[in-house]
Amino acid sequence: MIALDEAGMPLLAVSTGGSFDLPRWQSCAHPEHEPPGLLYIPAGQGYRHVCPGCGAARVLTSPSSTL
Ligand SMILES: [Zn+2]
Repeated sequence: MIALDEAGMPLLAVSTGGSFDLPRWQSCAHPEHEPPGLLYIPAGQGYRHVCPGCGAARVLTSPSSTL
């Protein structure tokens, strides 16, 4: 069990110094890793963005959703 700080970094690695392997989704540099910024999501609906590079999924929901 490795504790993670608020940024998702392993506290053990931070406290001991040195390098460590990032989770794949954190080290991904694919240009489509982040979902589009100007994406219209109708109220009450969601959008699932999957990075073509690492496969990390991000679910976006409309800020005006009343769910
Ligand atoms: Zn990615």
